[in-house]
Amino acid sequence: MTSVAVIGGGIGGLTAAACLLQAGLDVHVYEQASRLSEVGAGVQVSPNASRILHRLGLAGPLAATGVKPLAWHQRRWDNGRTLLRAPLAEALEATYGYPHYQMHRADLLDALVGALPPERIHLGHRVVGLTDGGDDVDVRFAGGQRVRAGVVVGADGIHSAVRQALFGADQAHFTGCVAYRGVVPAERLGHLGLEVTAQIWLGPGRHFVHYFISARRLINFVAVIEQDEWTRESWTDRGDVGDALAAYAGWHPQVRQIIGAADETFRWALFDRPPLPRWSRGRVTLLGDAAHAMLPFMAQGAAQAIEDGATLSACLRQLPPVAALRRYEEVRLPRTSRLQEMSAGNKTRFHLPDGDAQAERDSQMAEGSRSWSFNALGWLYEHDAGETSLTAHGSRT
Ligand code: FAD
Repeated sequence: MTSVAVIGGGIGGLTAAACLLQAGLDVHVYEQASRLSEVGAGVQVSPNASRILHRLGLAGPLAATGVKPLAWHQRRWDNGRTLLRAPLAEALEATYGYPHYQMHRADLLDALVGALPPERIHLGHRVVGLTDGGDDVDVRFAGGQRVRAGVVVGADGIHSAVRQALFGADQAHFTGCVAYRGVVPAERLGHLGLEVTAQIWLGPGRHFVHYFISARRLINFVAVIEQDEWTRESWTDRGDVGDALAAYAGWHPQVRQIIGAADETFRWALFDRPPLPRWSRGRVTLLGDAAHAMLPFMAQGAAQAIEDGATLSACLRQLPPVAALRRYEEVRLPRTSRLQEMSAGNKTRFHLPDGDAQAERDSQMAEGSRSWSFNALGWLYEHDAGETSLTAHGSRT
């Protein structure tokens, strides 16, 4: 039985480990932190990802805390006019067979931890180097420990040490966007009578997203603003609620009241990378943000990390290690590259200044033009990453 060392215990690494275990592989996760944790924020889990999670037996935990939004509602920044409203909930589930959830990241992580026996997760293990000896890989950790594994999967995030070991050091690209993220107890905003929808407010140089999480007890928001540079060493920072409010001066009262109800916010510099030409070398490969960091403007970073794990385990079930990793990359790379490009493109589409281009965008949205319609995303949501027929381009034929 092939042994697999997954480096990184985030959403991507834990999903991969659960899929690999289910496929009968001998898998262990090595996480640098002394405990598994996620940032206090929300994540949208679209049907292409919930399909994989349900198959891991997680439908129960996801339904317990995940919120199924009624619709995807895009609105204008100042007067709240509806630009586009696409039904989610039953309509989406009926079409794709699996729900769209809005979740607290910690709830999703807890569900994934529950899918793995505790002895398979090794905390306090920071990878500092690895050597592929041909028959197996020698992995070295900061504390001096070493393990040997038949396959190594770098699920260690955007700063990936495994990617650096494979392909050398490189710099992530600052996208010119900074996100303020926050969660607010829903009872504080009861007077707004908020619908259970994912609302996306589009305005010049910025946008604002909010939705319910944690069985509707909390409202998650992400406020994205364009900024020329990020000069701080850290990529995350405590953000001032007053600064976030100032950035949304003149915006609709609903947006401002949600921001104003937060006790604290965190500021995130948003980085991405251009698609890599390859992810694998010999018995080592990459997964999730380590492989394909993207702007969150398609809400697909974690969803694609989840898909990666399902395809990787399908490949390793069917092929010997080196061929499996090559096939995995071949199947996944075109799909994630497409999403990296679409996510970057949405920065422009979401942030148009008021004027001709914005009026044209709004009328396309109102007409449900093909590129703005939900049906246009059928290729994204219907894809079954675990049922990999091993065709190229990440799509089933
Ligand atoms: P990470 O979550 O970064 O996990 C990497 C893990 O590896 C960490 O636990 C880390 O401690 C560990 N690690 C790092 N280095 C080492 C090492 N040397 N040795 C051992 N362990 C190591 N995606 C969606 O699908 N839907 C959304 O709605 C969505 N919204 C987003 C909103 C914002 C504002 C942002 C910034 C992102 C959003 N994303 C969303 C993207 C999503 O958060 C990421 O794509 C996803 O979390 C990546 O998961 P990962 O497991 O690949 O990496």
